[in-house]
Amino acid sequence: MNLIFLGPPGAGKGTQAKVLEQRFGYRQVSTGDILRANVREGTPLGVEAKGYMDSGKLVPDELIIRMMEPVLDAAGDVILDGFPRTTTQAEALDELLRRKRKSAAAVLFAVDPSVLTERLTGRWTHAASGRTYHVRHNPPKLPGIDDQTGEPLIQRPDDKEETIRTRLAEYDALTAPLIAYYDDPADPRLVSVDALAPIDDVTAQLTKLVSGNVSRNGAA
Ligand code: ADP
Ligand code: ADP
Repeated sequence: MNLIFLGPPGAGKGTQAKVLEQRFGYRQVSTGDILRANVREGTPLGVEAKGYMDSGKLVPDELIIRMMEPVLDAAGDVILDGFPRTTTQAEALDELLRRKRKSAAAVLFAVDPSVLTERLTGRWTHAASGRTYHVRHNPPKLPGIDDQTGEPLIQRPDDKEETIRTRLAEYDALTAPLIAYYDDPADPRLVSVDALAPIDDVTAQLTKLVSGNVSRNGAA
């Protein structure tokens, strides 16, 4: 079963996707990480996307949908982290899944918005891998240094307060409607986790969900 991680910026989606990748062999597909790699490499997609990302706005749907199509061709179950983010993207994803005879369930990271700014302003990122830390909630062993590679960590330019405000407004206006989209009474495919809990607790909640799913399907 493919998983769609849904929730506002700072809810903990990337943190948990990396843990589930290690523990259950999912492949994390983070649209933000793919876009930032394109910006670093100066590809045509990166050049088009950069202005939107710098200002905290969503990148236009056509660009994102075109970028995602080949990603879903690869074998194995994925965690979609940061996609879909609009109803148009969700409809395009449903169409892609249908064509590829795959399915996906959405996991909502339910969180009080009051914690998000503190989580994002305290976030430190290892650019090459997308691994993140938090200055208080999940500090690296050495300040400013990635535990695994020893390389320097950065603060993302869009993790500053004024850009965070725009990103949260974009979430409320364009992404939050997806909660109802996936919680459709005719075809419910949404579960939620309490993402206000500490990181390890959220991992435990997800592990339960994923293990339940695995045993129901009788697959390893
Ligand atoms: P998202 O991918 O949803 O934007 P991240 O996983 O990058 O969010 O988490 C945002 C920041 O909050 C990171 O600095 C991360 O270390 C921290 N964080 C993640 N989950 C929790 C949690 N449950 N409690 C406290 N801090 C968290
Ligand atoms: P966060 O983990 O904090 O939620 P992301 O790394 O997912 O942030 O996204 C960073 C930026 O990349 C967004 O503000 C947006 O500009 C762009 N982006 C990422 N995913 C999408 C998407 N599915 N649709 C449109 N824009 C996206």
